Amino acid sequence: MSSTENMLATVNHNFDRAAQFLDYPDGLLAQIRQCNAVFKFHFPVRKEGPGGGYEVVEAWRAEHSHHRLPCKGGVRYAPDVDGDEVQALAALMTYKCAVVDVPFGGAKGAVRVDPRRCSPEQLERITRRYTAELIRKNFISPGVDVLAPDYGTGPREMAWIMDTYLQIRGGEIDATGCVTGKPVNLGGIRGRREATGRGVAFAVREACNDTELMKQLGVPPGITGKRVAVQGLGNVGFHAARFLAEAGAVLVAVSEVEGTLYRAGGLDLEAVMRHRAETGRITGFPGATDLPRTAVLEVDCDILAPCARENVITADVAPRVKARMVAEGANGPVTADADAILRQRGITVIPDIYCNAGGVTVSYFEWLKNLSHVRFGRMQKRFDEMSKGRLVDTVARLTGHGMDDPVRRTIVQGPGEEDLVNSGLDETMSVAWQEIREVMRQMPRVGDLRNAAFVSAIRKIAVSYMELGIFP
Ligand code: NAD
Repeated sequence: MSSTENMLATVNHNFDRAAQFLDYPDGLLAQIRQCNAVFKFHFPVRKEGPGGGYEVVEAWRAEHSHHRLPCKGGVRYAPDVDGDEVQALAALMTYKCAVVDVPFGGAKGAVRVDPRRCSPEQLERITRRYTAELIRKNFISPGVDVLAPDYGTGPREMAWIMDTYLQIRGGEIDATGCVTGKPVNLGGIRGRREATGRGVAFAVREACNDTELMKQLGVPPGITGKRVAVQGLGNVGFHAARFLAEAGAVLVAVSEVEGTLYRAGGLDLEAVMRHRAETGRITGFPGATDLPRTAVLEVDCDILAPCARENVITADVAPRVKARMVAEGANGPVTADADAILRQRGITVIPDIYCNAGGVTVSYFEWLKNLSHVRFGRMQKRFDEMSKGRLVDTVARLTGHGMDDPVRRTIVQGPGEEDLVNSGLDETMSVAWQEIREVMRQMPRVGDLRNAAFVSAIRKIAVSYMELGIFP
């Protein structure tokens, strides 16, 4: 493994590449790049099964940037996670929030544990203890640092985090805003579960509808008929695959830890998931070909979406990627060396700090909902319906043309929470894409989308520091 195949080195390498194009004092760039605070800690947890005893669990919370508060970032449960990885992921959160104009600093947490080998009871004990340690050190609260799901965690863990926080800090009026990605009944928001994958699909749509980019790649514009391969069918991968297929793409390959499933004519995702629920694996699906786990990265397709883990497309793999475009659903799936090879081969990479920013965007909406203590749409849905109804009825009366009830209902329907969340996400991904492309037009030498996204992020963070009077 080369030095740049450590994720922290990759993120810093990408920062440095972009920083060359920016004219700020060195101190300012160094401050933006540096991780502000890392809390590394250990706590004991009773072992499961016969024999008893305790094991010591290793955990982290890294707050990369405090230029905006609160900090925001997921919590990862994985047996091989380390401090560098957590800092790298926290840094990505800072840049990601800036790219999509989410007013947060970046953070990330992790617990070195294999969730597949733990009972739900053990995971609950670990999650509650992890949260209590963060509270003691002021590394969690709605105004300081807001947690969220990541690899190996989901709404269940977020509910435990919130409950622990409420037990200790129950009197705080905004306490539920200490964590996002919660179940909807506990203050979560409709659309958060799907948000990252939906955002990946929006990002791919923006790229495919960009006629200039598609011309450079030598492929026809539009998402319809594009052959897609997705690595990982967890939260991000499953929803990305689902929304890409719904948008008209053809899902030719999916992979999970047990292997890759390939079918040139396209896979029915729901049927694959049913098959996995029945047999415990995606492989062995009728009518499709089983391939090794990593084969998904090399299958013949137009768009490859790595949505599992970091560092999967290495310098070894990059020369064999057949896709014309790589959409980084996961954080850091392409190493710096591999990125250079893909660029040289004319393959476009939609970078993680833009591509998977849908999750933090909708987490931001959830946090706003928690702080305002009201569901989006509750105050205006009925009002919108009544005013549109009056307009439609007036037009009908004046023209003498009435309207069928179902048609009238579709026209006058006011937006519910999920409609507002999805349209807010759509708008965010669309605006951020335009900003990244504008950087490329203004500064042609930046060359690629990742560099342009980093330039866009660093500029926005630099402005915050300068407006704070630091680094005038
Ligand atoms: P998840 O735990 O829900 O899913 C990950 C899936 O990948 C699992 O099903 C796992 O079995 C599978 N997997 C692991 N190694 C694999 C391999 N080598 N080949 C194929 N499949 C493999 O996690 P997630 O929340 O979907 O996160 C996935 C990635 O997306 C991570 O990099 C995470 O940091 C990033 N991400 C997640 C979110 C979010 O909202 N959950 C937001 C932004 C970025």
